[in-house]
Amino acid sequence: MRTKLIYIMLDGAGDRPSPVLNGKTPLEYANTPNMDLLVRNAKLGLIYTVKRGIAPESDVAVLSMLGYDPFKYHTGRGPIEAYGAGIPLNDGDLAVRCNFATASPNGKILDRRVGRSLSSEEASILGEAINRLVKLESYPASFTFKSTIGHRAVLVIRSTIPLSSSITNTDPSYAKLEGLGIAKIPLELKVEECKPLDDSLTSKISAQLINEFTVKSRLILEEHPINLKRASKGLLKANIILTRDAGNRLPKLFNINERYKVRFACLAEMPVEIGIAKLAGMDVVNIPPPTGNVKLDSELKVKALLNAYRDFDCFYVHIKGPDEPGHDGDAKLKAELISVIDEAFFGELLKALNLNECLICVTADHATPCDLRAHSDDPVPLMIAGSVKGRGASKFCESTCKSGELGLLNRGVDLIPMLMGLL
Ligand code: ZN
Ligand code: ZN
Repeated sequence: MRTKLIYIMLDGAGDRPSPVLNGKTPLEYANTPNMDLLVRNAKLGLIYTVKRGIAPESDVAVLSMLGYDPFKYHTGRGPIEAYGAGIPLNDGDLAVRCNFATASPNGKILDRRVGRSLSSEEASILGEAINRLVKLESYPASFTFKSTIGHRAVLVIRSTIPLSSSITNTDPSYAKLEGLGIAKIPLELKVEECKPLDDSLTSKISAQLINEFTVKSRLILEEHPINLKRASKGLLKANIILTRDAGNRLPKLFNINERYKVRFACLAEMPVEIGIAKLAGMDVVNIPPPTGNVKLDSELKVKALLNAYRDFDCFYVHIKGPDEPGHDGDAKLKAELISVIDEAFFGELLKALNLNECLICVTADHATPCDLRAHSDDPVPLMIAGSVKGRGASKFCESTCKSGELGLLNRGVDLIPMLMGLL
Protein backbone atom coordinates (compact mmCIF):
# COMPACT_ATOMS: atom_id res chain seq x y z
CA MET A 1 0.00 0.00 0.00
CA ARG A 2 1.10 3.50 -0.77
CA THR A 3 2.07 5.77 2.13
CA LYS A 4 -0.61 8.37 2.83
CA LEU A 5 -0.18 11.93 3.98
CA ILE A 6 -2.29 13.52 6.70
CA TYR A 7 -1.43 17.19 6.80
CA ILE A 8 -2.99 18.90 9.79
CA MET A 9 -3.08 22.63 10.20
CA LEU A 10 -4.01 23.84 13.67
CA ASP A 11 -5.27 27.34 12.97
CA GLY A 12 -3.30 29.96 14.87
CA ALA A 13 -1.75 27.38 17.23
CA GLY A 14 1.66 29.05 17.44
CA ASP A 15 2.13 31.38 20.41
CA ARG A 16 4.57 32.93 22.89
CA PRO A 17 5.27 32.11 26.53
CA SER A 18 2.47 33.43 28.72
CA PRO A 19 2.56 34.51 32.36
CA VAL A 20 -0.86 32.93 32.99
CA LEU A 21 0.58 29.58 31.82
CA ASN A 22 3.63 29.75 34.11
CA GLY A 23 5.77 31.07 31.28
CA LYS A 24 4.76 28.29 28.88
CA THR A 25 3.10 28.61 25.49
CA PRO A 26 -0.40 27.09 25.03
CA LEU A 27 1.04 24.13 23.07
CA GLU A 28 3.60 23.55 25.79
CA TYR A 29 1.08 23.90 28.61
CA ALA A 30 -1.70 21.79 27.06
CA ASN A 31 -2.22 18.20 28.09
CA THR A 32 -1.51 16.34 24.84
CA PRO A 33 -0.77 12.64 25.39
CA ASN A 34 -1.58 11.75 21.78
CA MET A 35 0.57 14.40 20.14
CA ASP A 36 3.28 13.47 22.67
CA LEU A 37 3.15 9.94 21.29
CA LEU A 38 3.42 11.20 17.72
CA VAL A 39 6.28 13.56 18.47
CA ARG A 40 8.45 10.89 20.07
CA ASN A 41 10.07 9.81 16.81
CA ALA A 42 9.17 12.84 14.70
CA LYS A 43 11.28 15.29 12.78
CA LEU A 44 10.78 18.78 14.22
CA GLY A 45 11.40 22.31 13.10
CA LEU A 46 10.03 25.83 12.98
CA ILE A 47 8.58 27.34 9.82
CA TYR A 48 7.74 30.86 8.62
CA THR A 49 4.40 30.10 6.99
CA VAL A 50 4.84 32.86 4.40
CA LYS A 51 8.13 34.55 5.18
CA ARG A 52 9.71 36.61 7.90
CA GLY A 53 8.02 39.99 8.37
CA ILE A 54 4.60 38.83 7.12
CA ALA A 55 1.90 38.33 9.77
CA PRO A 56 -0.44 36.62 7.33
CA GLU A 57 -4.18 36.34 7.19
CA SER A 58 -5.30 32.72 7.03
CA ASP A 59 -5.93 32.70 3.26
CA VAL A 60 -2.43 33.96 2.45
CA ALA A 61 -0.88 31.50 4.89
CA VAL A 62 -2.91 28.52 3.70
CA LEU A 63 -2.04 29.21 0.07
CA SER A 64 1.61 29.31 1.00
CA MET A 65 1.48 26.21 3.20
CA LEU A 66 -0.24 24.30 0.38
CA GLY A 67 2.64 25.16 -1.94
CA TYR A 68 1.30 28.23 -3.78
CA ASP A 69 3.55 31.26 -3.50
CA PRO A 70 1.07 33.94 -2.39
CA PHE A 71 3.16 36.68 -3.99
CA LYS A 72 2.51 34.99 -7.30
CA TYR A 73 -0.97 33.52 -6.89
CA HIS A 74 -2.90 35.60 -4.39
CA THR A 75 -5.68 37.80 -5.78
CA GLY A 76 -7.29 38.82 -2.47
CA ARG A 77 -9.23 36.90 0.14
CA GLY A 78 -12.58 38.24 -1.08
CA PRO A 79 -12.72 36.09 -4.23
CA ILE A 80 -11.64 32.94 -2.34
CA GLU A 81 -14.31 33.50 0.31
CA ALA A 82 -16.92 34.09 -2.40
CA TYR A 83 -15.89 30.91 -4.21
CA GLY A 84 -15.87 28.89 -0.99
CA ALA A 85 -19.35 30.23 -0.17
CA GLY A 86 -20.65 29.23 -3.60
CA ILE A 87 -21.11 32.71 -5.11
CA PRO A 88 -20.23 32.75 -8.83
CA LEU A 89 -17.51 35.26 -9.66
CA ASN A 90 -16.49 36.64 -13.04
CA ASP A 91 -13.32 38.60 -13.72
CA GLY A 92 -14.07 42.23 -12.87
CA ASP A 93 -16.55 41.41 -10.12
CA LEU A 94 -15.44 42.95 -6.82
CA ALA A 95 -15.38 40.54 -3.87
CA VAL A 96 -14.59 41.48 -0.26
CA ARG A 97 -14.51 39.51 2.96
CA CYS A 98 -16.89 41.02 5.52
CA ASN A 99 -17.44 40.95 9.26
CA PHE A 100 -20.66 41.82 10.99
CA ALA A 101 -19.42 44.15 13.74
CA THR A 102 -20.69 46.54 16.40
CA ALA A 103 -20.10 50.29 16.00
CA SER A 104 -21.15 53.31 18.02
CA PRO A 105 -23.00 56.16 16.25
CA ASN A 106 -19.72 58.06 15.72
CA GLY A 107 -18.10 55.09 13.97
CA LYS A 108 -16.03 53.76 16.82
CA ILE A 109 -15.85 49.98 16.64
CA LEU A 110 -17.04 48.46 19.89
CA ASP A 111 -16.51 44.88 18.74
CA ARG A 112 -15.13 43.63 15.43
CA ARG A 113 -17.05 40.34 15.73
CA VAL A 114 -20.26 41.31 17.58
CA GLY A 115 -18.78 39.70 20.69
CA ARG A 116 -18.74 36.36 18.80
CA SER A 117 -22.35 35.97 19.86
CA LEU A 118 -24.05 36.39 16.46
CA SER A 119 -25.45 33.05 15.33
CA SER A 120 -25.26 31.97 11.70
CA GLU A 121 -29.09 32.00 11.65
CA GLU A 122 -29.29 35.61 12.86
CA ALA A 123 -26.61 36.63 10.37
CA SER A 124 -28.47 34.94 7.56
CA ILE A 125 -31.70 36.86 8.32
CA LEU A 126 -29.79 40.15 8.51
CA GLY A 127 -28.07 39.29 5.22
CA GLU A 128 -31.40 38.62 3.50
CA ALA A 129 -32.67 42.04 4.62
CA ILE A 130 -29.56 43.71 3.19
CA ASN A 131 -29.95 41.93 -0.15
CA ARG A 132 -33.60 42.90 -0.35
CA LEU A 133 -33.47 46.50 0.84
CA VAL A 134 -30.10 48.00 -0.13
CA LYS A 135 -29.87 49.46 -3.66
CA LEU A 136 -26.56 50.72 -4.99
CA GLU A 137 -27.02 53.92 -6.97
CA SER A 138 -23.69 55.77 -7.03
CA TYR A 139 -22.86 53.78 -10.18
CA PRO A 140 -24.87 51.09 -12.02
CA ALA A 141 -24.21 47.97 -9.95
CA SER A 142 -25.82 45.00 -8.25
CA PHE A 143 -24.51 42.88 -5.40
CA THR A 144 -24.79 39.60 -3.53
CA PHE A 145 -24.15 39.64 0.20
CA LYS A 146 -23.85 36.27 1.93
CA SER A 147 -23.29 35.46 5.57
CA THR A 148 -21.26 32.30 6.13
CA ILE A 149 -20.30 31.21 9.66
CA GLY A 150 -21.17 33.35 12.69
CA HIS A 151 -20.08 36.96 12.15
CA ARG A 152 -18.36 36.17 8.84
CA ALA A 153 -19.73 37.16 5.45
CA VAL A 154 -18.76 37.98 1.90
CA LEU A 155 -19.89 40.67 -0.54
CA VAL A 156 -19.69 40.55 -4.33
CA ILE A 157 -20.45 43.70 -6.36
CA ARG A 158 -20.98 43.52 -10.13
CA SER A 159 -21.17 46.48 -12.44
CA THR A 160 -21.36 47.39 -16.12
CA ILE A 161 -17.59 47.97 -15.98
CA PRO A 162 -14.87 45.73 -14.50
CA LEU A 163 -14.40 46.87 -10.90
CA SER A 164 -11.03 47.40 -9.25
CA SER A 165 -9.54 45.72 -6.19
CA SER A 166 -7.12 48.61 -5.65
CA ILE A 167 -9.06 49.89 -2.65
CA THR A 168 -8.47 50.04 1.09
CA ASN A 169 -10.24 48.07 3.84
CA THR A 170 -12.92 49.64 6.01
CA ASP A 171 -11.86 47.14 8.69
CA PRO A 172 -9.00 48.89 10.55
CA SER A 173 -7.43 45.63 11.80
CA TYR A 174 -6.10 44.53 8.44
CA ALA A 175 -3.99 46.17 5.79
CA LYS A 176 -2.32 45.31 2.50
CA LEU A 177 1.44 44.71 2.35
CA GLU A 178 3.09 43.89 -0.96
CA GLY A 179 -0.45 43.19 -2.19
CA LEU A 180 -1.18 40.64 0.56
CA GLY A 181 -3.66 40.88 3.41
CA ILE A 182 -1.84 41.20 6.72
CA ALA A 183 -2.87 41.77 10.31
CA LYS A 184 -2.23 45.21 11.76
CA ILE A 185 -2.68 46.68 15.20
CA PRO A 186 -4.61 49.90 14.66
CA LEU A 187 -4.07 53.03 16.74
CA GLU A 188 -7.78 53.59 16.91
CA LEU A 189 -10.55 51.10 16.26
CA LYS A 190 -12.74 53.14 13.94
CA VAL A 191 -14.67 52.21 10.78
CA GLU A 192 -12.47 53.49 7.99
CA GLU A 193 -13.62 55.01 4.75
CA CYS A 194 -12.85 52.89 1.69
CA LYS A 195 -10.34 54.75 -0.47
CA PRO A 196 -8.96 54.10 -3.95
CA LEU A 197 -5.30 53.04 -3.94
CA ASP A 198 -4.61 54.48 -7.38
CA ASP A 199 -5.88 57.31 -9.59
CA SER A 200 -8.03 55.20 -11.91
CA LEU A 201 -11.70 55.96 -12.30
CA THR A 202 -12.61 52.29 -11.67
CA SER A 203 -10.84 52.30 -8.30
CA LYS A 204 -12.73 55.48 -7.37
CA ILE A 205 -16.04 53.94 -8.42
CA SER A 206 -15.24 50.70 -6.57
CA ALA A 207 -14.38 52.51 -3.33
CA GLN A 208 -17.51 54.63 -3.67
CA LEU A 209 -19.71 51.54 -4.08
CA ILE A 210 -18.22 49.97 -0.93
CA ASN A 211 -18.84 53.17 1.03
CA GLU A 212 -22.39 53.38 -0.27
CA PHE A 213 -22.98 49.75 0.72
CA THR A 214 -21.54 50.40 4.20
CA VAL A 215 -23.78 53.41 4.86
CA LYS A 216 -26.96 51.89 3.46
CA SER A 217 -26.55 48.47 5.07
CA ARG A 218 -25.88 50.15 8.38
CA LEU A 219 -29.27 51.89 8.28
CA ILE A 220 -31.01 48.56 7.66
CA LEU A 221 -29.05 46.76 10.38
CA GLU A 222 -29.46 49.37 13.10
CA GLU A 223 -33.25 49.10 13.18
CA HIS A 224 -33.63 45.46 12.22
CA PRO A 225 -35.84 43.42 14.62
CA ILE A 226 -32.99 40.92 15.14
CA ASN A 227 -30.80 43.73 16.47
CA LEU A 228 -33.57 45.31 18.53
CA LYS A 229 -34.15 41.94 20.15
CA ARG A 230 -30.42 41.48 20.77
CA ALA A 231 -30.20 44.93 22.37
CA SER A 232 -33.18 44.18 24.64
CA LYS A 233 -31.33 41.10 25.85
CA GLY A 234 -28.19 43.12 26.54
CA LEU A 235 -26.34 41.66 23.53
CA LEU A 236 -24.28 43.71 21.10
CA LYS A 237 -25.97 44.80 17.88
CA ALA A 238 -24.60 43.57 14.55
CA ASN A 239 -25.01 47.07 13.17
CA ILE A 240 -22.18 47.51 10.68
CA ILE A 241 -20.45 45.52 7.94
CA LEU A 242 -16.66 45.82 7.84
CA THR A 243 -14.98 45.00 4.53
CA ARG A 244 -11.46 43.88 3.72
CA ASP A 245 -9.23 42.04 1.24
CA ALA A 246 -10.77 43.12 -2.04
CA GLY A 247 -10.13 41.06 -5.13
CA ASN A 248 -11.58 41.14 -8.62
CA ARG A 249 -10.68 37.69 -9.98
CA LEU A 250 -10.09 34.19 -8.73
CA PRO A 251 -6.50 32.99 -8.38
CA LYS A 252 -5.42 30.51 -11.02
CA LEU A 253 -3.82 27.68 -9.05
CA PHE A 254 -2.10 24.68 -10.59
CA ASN A 255 -3.84 21.39 -9.89
CA ILE A 256 -2.15 19.89 -6.85
CA ASN A 257 -3.17 16.33 -7.79
CA GLU A 258 -1.65 16.58 -11.25
CA ARG A 259 1.49 18.29 -10.00
CA TYR A 260 2.30 15.59 -7.43
CA LYS A 261 0.41 12.63 -8.95
CA VAL A 262 -1.73 12.10 -5.86
CA ARG A 263 -5.39 12.46 -4.87
CA PHE A 264 -5.90 15.14 -2.26
CA ALA A 265 -8.97 15.58 -0.07
CA CYS A 266 -9.72 18.57 2.14
CA LEU A 267 -11.46 18.51 5.50
CA ALA A 268 -12.18 22.07 6.56
CA GLU A 269 -15.22 24.01 7.64
CA MET A 270 -14.55 27.63 6.77
CA PRO A 271 -15.33 28.97 3.27
CA VAL A 272 -11.82 30.37 2.84
CA GLU A 273 -10.04 27.05 3.32
CA ILE A 274 -12.68 25.19 1.34
CA GLY A 275 -12.35 27.77 -1.45
CA ILE A 276 -8.58 27.36 -1.66
CA ALA A 277 -8.83 23.56 -1.59
CA LYS A 278 -11.37 23.55 -4.41
CA LEU A 279 -9.29 25.94 -6.48
CA ALA A 280 -6.28 23.65 -5.94
CA GLY A 281 -8.27 20.73 -7.35
CA MET A 282 -8.82 18.88 -4.07
CA ASP A 283 -12.00 16.96 -3.31
CA VAL A 284 -13.83 18.55 -0.41
CA VAL A 285 -15.12 15.98 2.07
CA ASN A 286 -18.47 17.10 3.40
CA ILE A 287 -18.54 17.81 7.10
CA PRO A 288 -21.30 19.59 8.99
CA PRO A 289 -20.82 23.33 9.70
CA PRO A 290 -18.95 24.02 12.96
CA THR A 291 -21.10 23.81 16.07
CA GLY A 292 -18.74 25.94 18.18
CA ASN A 293 -18.11 22.86 20.32
CA VAL A 294 -14.50 21.99 19.49
CA LYS A 295 -14.78 18.46 20.91
CA LEU A 296 -17.80 17.61 18.80
CA ASP A 297 -16.37 19.28 15.71
CA SER A 298 -13.09 17.36 16.13
CA GLU A 299 -14.93 14.07 16.52
CA LEU A 300 -16.96 14.70 13.38
CA LYS A 301 -13.84 15.64 11.47
CA VAL A 302 -11.82 12.58 12.40
CA LYS A 303 -14.82 10.38 11.62
CA ALA A 304 -15.15 11.94 8.17
CA LEU A 305 -11.41 11.55 7.62
CA LEU A 306 -11.44 7.85 8.51
CA ASN A 307 -14.51 7.27 6.31
CA ALA A 308 -12.72 8.83 3.34
CA TYR A 309 -9.34 7.30 4.18
CA ARG A 310 -9.33 4.60 1.53
CA ASP A 311 -10.39 6.91 -1.30
CA PHE A 312 -7.50 9.42 -1.24
CA ASP A 313 -3.71 9.59 -0.86
CA CYS A 314 -3.38 12.92 0.90
CA PHE A 315 -5.56 14.81 3.35
CA TYR A 316 -5.40 18.48 4.19
CA VAL A 317 -7.14 18.87 7.57
CA HIS A 318 -7.76 22.36 8.89
CA ILE A 319 -8.74 22.67 12.55
CA LYS A 320 -10.01 26.10 13.47
CA GLY A 321 -10.04 25.81 17.30
CA PRO A 322 -6.89 27.54 18.69
CA ASP A 323 -7.12 30.77 16.64
CA GLU A 324 -10.17 32.32 18.33
CA PRO A 325 -8.89 32.33 21.93
CA GLY A 326 -5.65 33.75 20.51
CA HIS A 327 -7.61 36.71 19.15
CA ASP A 328 -9.44 37.00 22.44
CA GLY A 329 -6.20 36.96 24.44
CA ASP A 330 -7.27 33.89 26.42
CA ALA A 331 -4.18 31.70 26.79
CA LYS A 332 -5.82 29.31 29.27
CA LEU A 333 -8.67 28.60 26.90
CA LYS A 334 -6.29 28.21 23.98
CA ALA A 335 -4.32 25.57 25.87
CA GLU A 336 -7.56 23.88 26.90
CA LEU A 337 -8.82 23.69 23.31
CA ILE A 338 -5.50 22.19 22.19
CA SER A 339 -6.00 19.51 24.85
CA VAL A 340 -9.53 18.88 23.60
CA ILE A 341 -8.28 18.56 19.99
CA ASP A 342 -5.55 16.21 21.17
CA GLU A 343 -8.07 13.91 22.76
CA ALA A 344 -10.99 14.14 20.34
CA PHE A 345 -9.05 14.32 17.05
CA PHE A 346 -5.56 12.90 17.54
CA GLY A 347 -6.70 10.27 20.04
CA GLU A 348 -9.19 8.77 17.58
CA LEU A 349 -6.80 9.15 14.68
CA LEU A 350 -4.01 7.26 16.40
CA LYS A 351 -6.36 4.48 17.44
CA ALA A 352 -7.34 3.89 13.82
CA LEU A 353 -4.07 4.29 11.93
CA ASN A 354 -0.96 2.25 11.46
CA LEU A 355 1.73 4.89 11.88
CA ASN A 356 4.17 3.00 9.67
CA GLU A 357 1.85 3.44 6.71
CA CYS A 358 1.28 7.16 6.83
CA LEU A 359 3.06 10.43 7.14
CA ILE A 360 1.50 12.83 9.62
CA CYS A 361 2.47 16.46 9.43
CA VAL A 362 1.21 18.80 12.14
CA THR A 363 1.74 22.54 11.99
CA ALA A 364 -0.14 25.86 12.05
CA ASP A 365 -1.08 28.39 9.37
CA HIS A 366 0.33 31.20 11.57
CA ALA A 367 0.82 32.10 15.19
CA THR A 368 -1.95 34.01 16.99
CA PRO A 369 -0.13 35.07 20.17
CA CYS A 370 -2.56 35.73 23.00
CA ASP A 371 -0.58 38.77 24.12
CA LEU A 372 -0.98 40.35 20.65
CA ARG A 373 -4.58 39.20 20.11
CA ALA A 374 -3.67 39.10 16.42
CA HIS A 375 -1.68 37.02 13.94
CA SER A 376 2.07 37.47 14.05
CA ASP A 377 4.96 36.64 11.75
CA ASP A 378 6.50 34.26 14.31
CA PRO A 379 7.63 30.96 12.82
CA VAL A 380 5.34 28.10 13.90
CA PRO A 381 6.06 24.58 15.18
CA LEU A 382 6.27 21.81 12.61
CA MET A 383 6.37 18.06 13.14
CA ILE A 384 6.60 15.33 10.57
CA ALA A 385 5.75 11.99 12.15
CA GLY A 386 4.61 8.49 11.29
CA SER A 387 6.56 6.60 8.64
CA VAL A 388 9.63 8.84 8.95
CA LYS A 389 12.02 8.53 11.84
CA GLY A 390 13.46 11.60 13.47
CA ARG A 391 15.21 12.61 16.66
CA GLY A 392 11.89 13.34 18.30
CA ALA A 393 11.11 15.10 21.57
CA SER A 394 8.81 14.67 24.53
CA LYS A 395 6.44 17.48 23.57
CA PHE A 396 5.26 19.23 20.39
CA CYS A 397 5.82 22.91 21.11
CA GLU A 398 7.75 26.01 20.07
CA SER A 399 10.88 25.32 22.11
CA THR A 400 11.37 21.64 21.14
CA CYS A 401 10.71 22.54 17.50
CA LYS A 402 13.25 25.32 17.69
CA SER A 403 16.00 22.83 18.45
CA GLY A 404 14.62 20.21 16.04
CA GLU A 405 16.60 18.68 13.20
CA LEU A 406 14.62 20.43 10.45
CA GLY A 407 15.87 23.76 11.77
CA LEU A 408 14.19 26.98 10.73
CA LEU A 409 12.39 26.82 7.38
CA ASN A 410 12.15 30.25 5.84
CA ARG A 411 9.27 29.77 3.40
CA GLY A 412 6.00 27.92 3.96
CA VAL A 413 5.73 27.34 0.23
CA ASP A 414 8.61 24.81 0.40
CA LEU A 415 6.82 22.47 2.82
CA ILE A 416 4.48 20.60 0.45
CA PRO A 417 7.28 19.75 -2.02
CA MET A 418 9.30 18.49 0.95
CA LEU A 419 6.41 16.32 2.19
CA MET A 420 5.81 14.97 -1.30
CA GLY A 421 9.48 14.04 -1.45
CA LEU A 422 9.09 12.05 1.77
CA LEU A 423 6.03 10.12 0.57
ZN1 ZN B 1 -5.63 31.10 10.41
ZN1 ZN C 1 -7.16 34.46 13.11
